[in-house]
Amino acid sequence: MPECIFCKIVKGEIPCAKILEDDRVLSFVDINPINPGHALVIPKKHYHTLFDMDPDDLQACILAAQKVGKAVHRSVAAEGVNLVQNNYRAAGQLIDHAHFHLIPRHEGDGFLSSWPGKPYAPGGLDAHLKRIVEALSQG
Ligand code: 5GP
Ligand code: ZN
Repeated sequence: MPECIFCKIVKGEIPCAKILEDDRVLSFVDINPINPGHALVIPKKHYHTLFDMDPDDLQACILAAQKVGKAVHRSVAAEGVNLVQNNYRAAGQLIDHAHFHLIPRHEGDGFLSSWPGKPYAPGGLDAHLKRIVEALSQG
């Protein structure tokens, strides 16, 4: 199986446009941006998803995402910024190395232009609350 492309970037085997780096985290410019200035923050260690991440790496990534997000916001005079984090194919994860997107947004840019929320059927919200809280207690 070919090695993970983000692990190759961490090792310097594939170049990236580096924004910041420390012993746990690397941030670089997304090669195929939603809008110019779109950046990624990744843990240096390979994890498939957010849910697999060690808490210290997760903390380091979210703090880096805050810093990089502020810089992205300023650098392109964005009107907004989305922090996006996809887990598994059904949610749009194409690279199986956990990562955080910082996406600068401009009014009318068309990204996420609809948020198709649907109301619960009667009793549905409480039923889902129960299922989630039960799952939470299982760790
Ligand atoms: P995902 O859909 O997995 O959440 O997002 C993966 C992101 O990684 C995409 O936005 C894609 O453009 C970016 N990407 C994929 N390969 C490379 C690469 O080799 N270099 C950089 N800089 N970004 C990449
Ligand atoms: Zn990897």
